[in-house]
Amino acid sequence: MPTLTFEAARECVVEQVTRNRTAPAAETVPLAEAAGRILAGPVFADRDYPATARSIRDGYAVRAGDTPGRLRLIGEVRAGQTYSGDVSAGECVAIMTGAPVPQGADAVVMIEHTGRDGDFVTVPEAPAAQFINAQGAEARAGEMLLEPGRRIGYAEVALLASVGVAAPAVYARPRVAILPTGDEVVALDAAPLPYQVRNSNAHALAAQVRGAGGAPVLLPVAPDALEATRELIEQALDCELLLLSGGVSAGKYDVVEQALASLGASFYFDRVLIQPGQPLVFGRVGRTFFFGLPGNPASTLVTFEIFARAAVELLGGATEPVLPFTLARLTERFQHRRGLTRFLPARLHGTDVAPVPWRGSSDIPAMARANALLVADADRDCWEAGDLIRVLLK
Ligand code: AMP
Ligand code: MG
Repeated sequence: MPTLTFEAARECVVEQVTRNRTAPAAETVPLAEAAGRILAGPVFADRDYPATARSIRDGYAVRAGDTPGRLRLIGEVRAGQTYSGDVSAGECVAIMTGAPVPQGADAVVMIEHTGRDGDFVTVPEAPAAQFINAQGAEARAGEMLLEPGRRIGYAEVALLASVGVAAPAVYARPRVAILPTGDEVVALDAAPLPYQVRNSNAHALAAQVRGAGGAPVLLPVAPDALEATRELIEQALDCELLLLSGGVSAGKYDVVEQALASLGASFYFDRVLIQPGQPLVFGRVGRTFFFGLPGNPASTLVTFEIFARAAVELLGGATEPVLPFTLARLTERFQHRRGLTRFLPARLHGTDVAPVPWRGSSDIPAMARANALLVADADRDCWEAGDLIRVLLK
């Protein structure tokens, strides 16, 4: 079974899921519920944008050739109205932002750049710009403005509303089963004994799945036993994706891979050169893709973000899953051992980043204090204070 670098593992996930996914069903949702969903069809301009030439400043509609000069004010046009006359030589019309430009005028002079003298307006200088958006300058009627596969964010909501789409067609959310494993894992409302932990992973993963556009399906905790684990995996096989947490290390009671293998699974990799999260299993059983995520909470959360999120997005019909990397300036010297790509809790403040002290992959409080992950490349071991380093936004 191959061990992959971070980059190769991510490429493998994107390629396998893109190649083997089935197109999700489409449904329509009210626009108010569309944010975060993936468009299932193209969106076209229903008319020219703007539909008629519009002023983008408050001022006077003029003939540019008349400026500088003294112009007769013949009327006014405001947003929501239209001016029926023409602007002839030596004339101007008071105009407000968003109002249609009267016939004859070809520029708007900002009110701040004019003087007023009874029925006359003085324009001391020719306008530096036209301050008119011509009909169709933003989009032409019939033009495709959004392609299917695009995630609907706030700007896409604005666009859908402006072209009159009250109920866009979106892809159905992929169903993502979440199967925590571990004899030590107890429910949230249990009083854990000192050697037990509450099932935080399932809840964190459910939130991550929802954020990625999926519909989480929570399964009960599987004990560290082959038969019971296999039975619970079988319950997940009508979902598009299965996320297991725990049970993928080399310990005597880590039975996840064995359980998957006994169901005829194919494995694409079971180890990635990253930290946290080296043991990490990706494969497919029947038509269900699966990730065996390491159980330590920081490992589970991080490996979801850098691998499983892309699978959820692709299964939901997204065209190009992106990892929101950016560069930030380290506030202190940072060292690590080469060989692994590390994703460590960090605080991003403006364009500065500082590592958050942590006690390793079990340290949930440190993960919660972080607002970003610092990404230490596998082939570099030292960054000085002030150096740029990669950061993954949280
Ligand atoms: P494992 O990957 O199964 O060796 O698990 C590693 C550690 O992760 C365990 O010792 C637990 O402390 C922790 N862990 C495993 N599953 C969960 C879970 N569902 N919620 C919170 N912590 C977990
Ligand atoms: Mg375990």
